[in-house]
Amino acid sequence: MKDAHLVLGVLNGDDIGHEVVPAAVEVATEAAERHGLRIDWRPMPIGRSALDTHGSTLPPGTLETLATFDGFVLGPIGHREYPKGPGAINPHPIMRKHFNLFANVRPTRSYPDIGCLHDNIDLVIVRENNEGFQPDRNVVAGSGEFRPSEGMTISVRVITRVGSERVARVALNLARSRRKLLTIVHKNTVFKLGCGMFVEECYRAAADFPDVEVNEVIVDTMAMRLVRDPQSFDVVVTTNMFGDILTDEAAGLVGGLGMAPGLCIGDGDFAMAQATHGSAPDIAGTGKANPYAMIDSTRMLLDWLGRRRGIPAAVEAAQAMQRAIVATLADPKARTGDIRGSGNTASMTAAILAGLSLRA
Ligand code: ATP
Repeated sequence: MKDAHLVLGVLNGDDIGHEVVPAAVEVATEAAERHGLRIDWRPMPIGRSALDTHGSTLPPGTLETLATFDGFVLGPIGHREYPKGPGAINPHPIMRKHFNLFANVRPTRSYPDIGCLHDNIDLVIVRENNEGFQPDRNVVAGSGEFRPSEGMTISVRVITRVGSERVARVALNLARSRRKLLTIVHKNTVFKLGCGMFVEECYRAAADFPDVEVNEVIVDTMAMRLVRDPQSFDVVVTTNMFGDILTDEAAGLVGGLGMAPGLCIGDGDFAMAQATHGSAPDIAGTGKANPYAMIDSTRMLLDWLGRRRGIPAAVEAAQAMQRAIVATLADPKARTGDIRGSGNTASMTAAILAGLSLRA
């Protein structure tokens, strides 16, 4: 068993990141202390505030320093609001790529009375993170989008065998630990080569998981079925852009973006907690931000690191967070307005902190 100690970077991000990330750190710190886990948090500048103080939204040395930690919590990035300039880049695709965090694990779960469109939703979308259609991350130099003439733009989609197989393995392992059902989402009816390769590699990986049932759904049908019968899915694996869209749709089923956590993982022992939502500048500073997504992303980080690194105290801390979160979501006075509550970021965080004393 490893020493019950983790060193984690904490990067607030922009806008509501300055509210929900400190909430997540506070909850995780308290949960860790109660279970004998020491977390050494290392705050680092990122985003708009780093541009002002360090001349870059991703200051030099950030990646090298993060690499010496066990993982990190990244708040939402509001890159669309950055002023145009050489230091103003969108840092998170660079981080996902640099640390080879090729799988973005995004759970969707319904809770009673918070405005979910269905009951009993419990699915996880595993989104390929580092290739696909996203032009700022699917090439090592330049961009996956270019404009040969004023009237024409070409966007390139990258699918590789290795990238497809490794994300499939993450999804299959996850399915094995859950209800043992994997759904491959694609559009190989049109993208015969690209999606065709993705599907082939998913099935190739699945041969090593005979205990997991595998089926496939075309992405447009999936968009419809997610709305109509989301309970029929357990783990879903898909390419980057489809995953980007479907995870927001899934969030819409269970109360919105405040209810959409995520964890970016790769083959190693290093991970990044990153909620699905953006920096929500429209509600920044109002106290309305739902901290669930960020707190639950941080819970996922502790759970994953605890399991990967053999630190039971981290898994126990994550389980305590889970109990506290479930209890808090049942309290309309604690909950934020987006999930039919009369509370705010502070009341929801305080209720989760109080719930950490709940026993299993
Ligand atoms: P991005 O493209 O960077 O992911 P986005 O365009 O999806 O960003 P968000 O910043 O995520 O936009 O916000 C979309 C909507 O969801 C906004 O109305 C915002 O207020 C709401 N929202 C996002 N996150 C939260 C949250 N944690 N709590 C409550 N509302 C949120």
